[in-house]
Amino acid sequence: MSKESKRIFGIDLGTTYSSIAYVDEYGKPVVIPNAENQRVTPSVVFFDGDNVVVGEVAKESARLYPNDVVSFVKRSMGEPNFLFRHNDRSYRAEEISSFVIRKVVQDAEQQLGEKITDLVITCPAYFGINEREATRRAGEIGGFNVHQIINEPTAAAIAYGSMEVAEEKVVLVYDLGGGTFDITMIDIKPGESIEVICTGGDHNLGGKDWDDRIVTYLVQEFQKATGIAKDILDDPDTWQDLQLSAEKSKKVLSQRDKTPVLVTHGGERVKANLERSQFEMITQDLLERTISLTHEMLGEALKKGYTKFDEIILVGGATRMPCVSARVAQEFSVTPKVFDPDEAIAKGAAIYGWKLFLQEEFMDQVAKKTNKTVDELEDIDDTELDSLLDEVEQLVADDTGYSVSDVRKAKIKIKNVTSKSFGVVAHDENDKEIVYNLIVKNSDVPVLARKSFGTAIDDQDAASIKIMENEISDNIAPYNNAVEIGTAVLDLPKGLKANTPIEITFKLNEEGRLEITAEETSETRRYVNVTIDTRSVIQGEELEEAKARSRHIMVS
Ligand code: AMP
Repeated sequence: MSKESKRIFGIDLGTTYSSIAYVDEYGKPVVIPNAENQRVTPSVVFFDGDNVVVGEVAKESARLYPNDVVSFVKRSMGEPNFLFRHNDRSYRAEEISSFVIRKVVQDAEQQLGEKITDLVITCPAYFGINEREATRRAGEIGGFNVHQIINEPTAAAIAYGSMEVAEEKVVLVYDLGGGTFDITMIDIKPGESIEVICTGGDHNLGGKDWDDRIVTYLVQEFQKATGIAKDILDDPDTWQDLQLSAEKSKKVLSQRDKTPVLVTHGGERVKANLERSQFEMITQDLLERTISLTHEMLGEALKKGYTKFDEIILVGGATRMPCVSARVAQEFSVTPKVFDPDEAIAKGAAIYGWKLFLQEEFMDQVAKKTNKTVDELEDIDDTELDSLLDEVEQLVADDTGYSVSDVRKAKIKIKNVTSKSFGVVAHDENDKEIVYNLIVKNSDVPVLARKSFGTAIDDQDAASIKIMENEISDNIAPYNNAVEIGTAVLDLPKGLKANTPIEITFKLNEEGRLEITAEETSETRRYVNVTIDTRSVIQGEELEEAKARSRHIMVS
């Protein structure tokens, strides 16, 4: 491998578990076990004095030190009001997630004897702009170069498409993780492209909800047996204890028909019995929600001309519950394939990182051959590139140690869609506030859209535009169905008359980052400076402080 080249590692930053993978010298994706020799690490952080402990030990510590342990922070990514307070300090979800990333990276470095600096991190397809940006920041706070944030189902499809698929297929990826549900339709053309057609899901539906139902059941059983009517979950120790027992018994029920669970509180001990059939009954509505979300997504796919699919693959730990495959098979009359539920996402991210790494190497070699800089290569014509192809691929193979066929495989195209609609606040004919969507959900990305509006008064020096995110697949969305993700502040040129047209452009890139520009278009086009103001993602001084803090906090 060349000295300056750096491998890019894939991280599955899960709600409940995280993992890291890379592509080995044979071109095979491999998950790297942690220091405890586990292939997944609980995304749980324990603040132990000045340092933090991540993983199984943190998870177990929750019983003894419930106030020092934080978990499920992924559900709060990009949420301005989430702060975990510990010892007079407040931590945002991205800073807590940075500790999880550092733990899996650190353990992988130990295993491989290699410094890891470059990452691709996954997030649910369902994440909006702020959640994605917060995920990127989590990596940056940890001190890493984050090359891309990619969607979990896309990552799973990349792993599936690269490892399992020999002919063209349309595949549904049903991804039920610890905290989120994503359903995605993907068109796989082996060796050529992996194209996301449509995506849907729920940010707040995952294995944890199944756990919560068990917790409620256990509380009721305890109350029945002891006659104690008060809510025992008010006690943080009992709450932690029941959460852990619930998850354990849920996993047991994936193997067995019933399981005993011990509930202890205030010196009382109750042995409850949980049967699989009862568990399935108390969680049935959750499973049904995944089915109706799947139908919603299929409706969207139909609008794009996709009338059927060939396969359903199940990924995400919670698809291990037998009721999931049974219900999916019943509804869609296909036997779903369980595909590497715990590792597919990290492996897909690793393959994607590897592809980026080889592409960079490829461009570097082309630049060397043509005596140009990489930036100048934009102008190179296809015939010139084609004539260099074989030679450059061989050079990349020699330099990186991968085979020429692996170097070629890395050229597969990956196309995505946006999982949200993006717009601005406008007024309808009755002067009611609505959202005008410039970019509509499930559009192919990258995408660019423009809209003009007129200034309100003479000499207006600034305008601010509320940027809204929503799930409505239409240009007009009700105001109440959208959330504000930030404000674009426009510094207008001097001396504009009222009603001067200002054109705003929304540009959404491949990884779901939104760039907003504006121009005044009355006479000559004049650039209008736009600043985006959002409280949802750590930035500025607060970001620098978190980075500095991270350097002084030991993670184990
Ligand atoms: P993921 O985010 O994909 O790692 O999925 C984690 C979720 O899968 C958590 O809610 C786990 O409790 C759940 N899970 C893992 N293994 C099993 C299992 N054997 N049966 C049921 N749920 C499981």
